[in-house]
Amino acid sequence: MLEIDILTIFPELFGPFLNTAFVGMARRDGAARIEAHDLRHWATDRHRSVDDTPYGGGPGMVMTPEPLIPAIEELAGPKSPERKVHVICLSPQGKALDQDRLTDLAAGPPLLFVCGRYEGIDQRVVDLAVDEELSIGDYVLSGGEVPTMVAIEGLVRLLPGVLGNPDSIETESFRGGGVLEGPQYTRPPIYRGLEVPPILRSGDHGAIDRWRRDQALDRTRARRPELLDAAPENRSEGGD
Ligand code: SAM
Repeated sequence: MLEIDILTIFPELFGPFLNTAFVGMARRDGAARIEAHDLRHWATDRHRSVDDTPYGGGPGMVMTPEPLIPAIEELAGPKSPERKVHVICLSPQGKALDQDRLTDLAAGPPLLFVCGRYEGIDQRVVDLAVDEELSIGDYVLSGGEVPTMVAIEGLVRLLPGVLGNPDSIETESFRGGGVLEGPQYTRPPIYRGLEVPPILRSGDHGAIDRWRRDQALDRTRARRPELLDAAPENRSEGGD
């Protein structure tokens, strides 16, 4: 079972997300337990504060160690080699989240996602309580909630039995040799003068597989050539 806790000042953002589509289905089927917790629950002052001005000056506010550290320690335990929960802080400064990391996380221990807001989180929280910082890309959002949803959606679809056809995962982009998936078509066979490639309607599954593989390599070469560099066995296939 995939077990995920989320620490956020906006738990209400997760309502529809956690109850809809594959994520909702996985929770209802007992394949996943995912809960969003309101960080302000651990705040102790009468304003339920979670942030303060930055030392050294500068714009915006910074999330304070309290209530973050007590909240993380209650949900995940104190940071130690024995801790059973992997604590992830979403941050534009983290390592880029990719399909390989998602695959490892899906097979690993329970997860706690910590969502930053404002100008980010006091460094001591990261030093004292976080195991890993992950980024969803080289751009800055206003909070870690959407990045957390990105990670959760990627994790849930890797759970056995969640996707109707498990082959979908194997043929998708970044799998099967680390290339992009090629183009897909459905009915009608001709739309506004554009015809579905006849080979896809030929019934020749060997030829279809070869065509898809070539298309995937051509598309990867055109759009993301660095993926082919990372998987040298792909370089010799397909035409230039
Ligand atoms: N001051 C920070 C900086 O320059 O690196 C940016 C803070 S951002 C406005 C607030 C929060 O949004 C971050 O603490 C993080 O949780 C989240 N966030 C923003 N962009 C993100 C990204 N690309 N990946 C993951 N989390 C992100």
